[in-house]
Amino acid sequence: MHEFSYAEALLDTVQRRAAGRQVVGVRVRAGAAHRLDEGSLAQAFELVSAGSVAADAELSLVTLPMVLECRACQARSESPDALALCPACGEATVDVTSGEEFLLESIELAEPAADPA
Ligand SMILES: [Zn+2]
Repeated sequence: MHEFSYAEALLDTVQRRAAGRQVVGVRVRAGAAHRLDEGSLAQAFELVSAGSVAADAELSLVTLPMVLECRACQARSESPDALALCPACGEATVDVTSGEEFLLESIELAEPAADPA
């Protein structure tokens, strides 16, 4: 389950941002290239965050499609998968220009009124 390394990195960032405050929600954006499953990531996060400020946080994952750019015909296309074929001309000369990001979009704190941000 490769979600564990993501969950650990995520917890690191969440804890820094929370600065000791209780976290109830975590929103993550990840490109399709990471092949993350929301259920598995949430489960991994639950395990690594046990005992931390994010122990009760609910995790949600937004998966972004891969954006492919063709070097032969310059067509840009979105793909849910890393199929390296241009849907416009069928050439295998595509670069992945997006879909490899992995970032913490936002966290939800237990007491939003006390949050200066
Ligand atoms: Zn093409």
